[in-house]
Amino acid sequence: MIPAPFDYEVAESVDHARELLASREDAKVLAGGHSLLPLLRLRVFRPSLLVDVGRIEGLSYVRDAGSQLAIGALTRHHDVATAPLLQEHNPLVSYAAGLIGDPQVRHRGTIGGSLAHADPASDLPAVLLALDAEIEIAGADGIRTHTAADFFRGAFETALAPGELVTEIRVPKLSAEHIWSYLKFHRRAQDWATVGVAAVARRNGGVSEPAIALVSMGATPLRASDAEAAWEAGDDPGAVADHGTDPPSDTNGSAEFRRHLAQVLVRRATEQAGGDR
Ligand code: FAD
Repeated sequence: MIPAPFDYEVAESVDHARELLASREDAKVLAGGHSLLPLLRLRVFRPSLLVDVGRIEGLSYVRDAGSQLAIGALTRHHDVATAPLLQEHNPLVSYAAGLIGDPQVRHRGTIGGSLAHADPASDLPAVLLALDAEIEIAGADGIRTHTAADFFRGAFETALAPGELVTEIRVPKLSAEHIWSYLKFHRRAQDWATVGVAAVARRNGGVSEPAIALVSMGATPLRASDAEAAWEAGDDPGAVADHGTDPPSDTNGSAEFRRHLAQVLVRRATEQAGGDR
């Protein structure tokens, strides 16, 4: 289908984008367009104004920020996947970004767009949840920061209010003691995850500070807290991986199939963490 008519403005800066967004109640941010444009074509959204933030200079970067790495919201998945700083200090993020869609999707889609869109089947939201990432938002009252746990509120729902922009994402630097894995089950190579699992922990004798987050097992990315406790205790985390989840049934799989996948993938992810991928 053809989208409903809309006006189009290019934002030159974050402040300019906020001004443009404030000028119309139904204005929408356009970043890589890979999630928004299909929804415009289906007329799920009919904004009267699209504010293109894709050319704002200085919002595409990966920077060293002390104990963290800062990623600009407009950084494309390909650049996240190939950033040397991420590959060195947080390879979980770069590895997962390299599994998103296909090369075309990775060269257009942005990390900020992926978070703002908050599709429960997306890869990076769960990875950032497992890492306790911080998400910076530019709102009417200035800049504020949310944890990933607080940012995702429901399917396609976030802490963003109308007219606000995600500007930066901060993830911790992992140490040599950290082990990690990201596993994604999908039917075709470029598809979204039927179920995905991000696992990270410290290994110093045993496993400590375990974090396991699930993709497509509920309305938001979910922490598998019973599985985390089992991993730390040396029990089988797979056996309890679906506790506290509410997976959907859709054309990719039934809720029951997803529960089974979560169990298998969590078991594999925790076994593979620190090993070969
Ligand atoms: P857009 O489409 O421009 O915007 C998406 C939404 O976020 C819109 O509501 C927009 O208003 C809002 N928005 C965008 N940027 C900001 C911002 N900085 N601040 C506030 N709001 C903002 N994703 C996966 O995770 N895994 C996959 O395997 C996968 N496969 C895909 C396969 C295909 C064929 C396609 C088309 C997409 C796929 N995606 C997948 C989604 C892809 O990663 C999208 O690019 C991403 O989800 C949205 O990023 P974007 O920059 O394109 O955002």
